Amino acid sequence: MNATDIRSNNDTNLFNMLLKQPDVIRVNEAIERLEKKGPSGVRRHLLATSVRLSRTMAPDVHRTCDHCIDKLGIDIPLELYVYSSPQFNAACIKPEEGRLFIMLSSSLLESFKGSELRFVMGHELGHHLYHHHDIPVGHLLRGAVRPSPRLALQLFAWSRYAEISADRAGAHCADEFFGVSRSLFRLASGLGDDVIHFDLDEFIGQVDDLTISSGEPGQGAPQEDWFSTHPFSPVRVKALKLYHDSVFVKPDGISVDELELKVQSVMGLMEPSYLEAKTESGETMRRLLFAGALAIARANEEISSAEEAVFEEFFGKGAIGDNLNFDRIMRDLPERIRLARENLSESQRMQVLRDLCLMLKADTRDDAAEREIIYDIAEALNISPLFIDAQLALSVELD
Ligand SMILES: [Zn+2]
Repeated sequence: MNATDIRSNNDTNLFNMLLKQPDVIRVNEAIERLEKKGPSGVRRHLLATSVRLSRTMAPDVHRTCDHCIDKLGIDIPLELYVYSSPQFNAACIKPEEGRLFIMLSSSLLESFKGSELRFVMGHELGHHLYHHHDIPVGHLLRGAVRPSPRLALQLFAWSRYAEISADRAGAHCADEFFGVSRSLFRLASGLGDDVIHFDLDEFIGQVDDLTISSGEPGQGAPQEDWFSTHPFSPVRVKALKLYHDSVFVKPDGISVDELELKVQSVMGLMEPSYLEAKTESGETMRRLLFAGALAIARANEEISSAEEAVFEEFFGKGAIGDNLNFDRIMRDLPERIRLARENLSESQRMQVLRDLCLMLKADTRDDAAEREIIYDIAEALNISPLFIDAQLALSVELD
């Protein structure tokens, strides 16, 4: 399997969308003009402030790096640097004059061994493999011209997915899930070997508690989460667990579609739910969910109390008021589907369909008319009926 295949779909989609943004184009053009004038001094700064690790000085570290370069199919000259810090940390610096730089903190080098170090090294090289430096997040967020709140949200959302892709590259190099999750645990806790006994299930359990404490459907994450560049470590471990359970690692694993959908819902813990997101895609998803849910609820003429309850879960008390112009909304449904097909990513369309399946499952009646509507919407959204089969087979509560 090629390491480019395992890149997160949402990373790729948001990346391609951001590259076309005027602010991103403007900043990239400015950086390009500067680079044409000569090296930006990155290497000089590294040589002045850290220690370059040669093959003679650090044969094991270089062997780990060679292993990752080979697994990821990377072909660029590379320099490794260590800097003094008690914090476990690493970074991949954008290439300068055709040379890539990896920085590792002294404490990380001292205590991360074997698959843990392969994971960290593979993660950093993953950022280069997936061209993540092409989105100049730092320049945009700390530049003289502040990005719009919408662009800022998109940049943070993308950078979290970029971490998910880099984690997969790291896992691909580490080849061993326990070492990978222990590495993330240690990065999050800052703890060395001998202090506590690492328990993977308990670490992942933290996400479940996070999910529970995140409250009712439609209630998104607190604002401070929206603006973090890295997913919470337990969220990263959960996303990696899903990756390890997928066809990327196991022949009988979950499909890529299901993997990306599940990762999206775990990542949703840190995002404004689309039910409240003040984004264009959030608006498109809401409008489709509203009209689609209404069409399903009214498929057999009357809306049951169970269906009304689900509707209100999504859209608030009294959402199905007397003044609701049902016929006008039904006439507008095809247009809402078209806008969704053209403007939403595959996993966003799947997320709306997943929530529409919840509406269908609201009451126990198995209604052919309701099913027909949801399969028609899925087809119009270019989503396979197999996805609907799987969703309807699941006995999930509202999340
Ligand atoms: Zn990273």
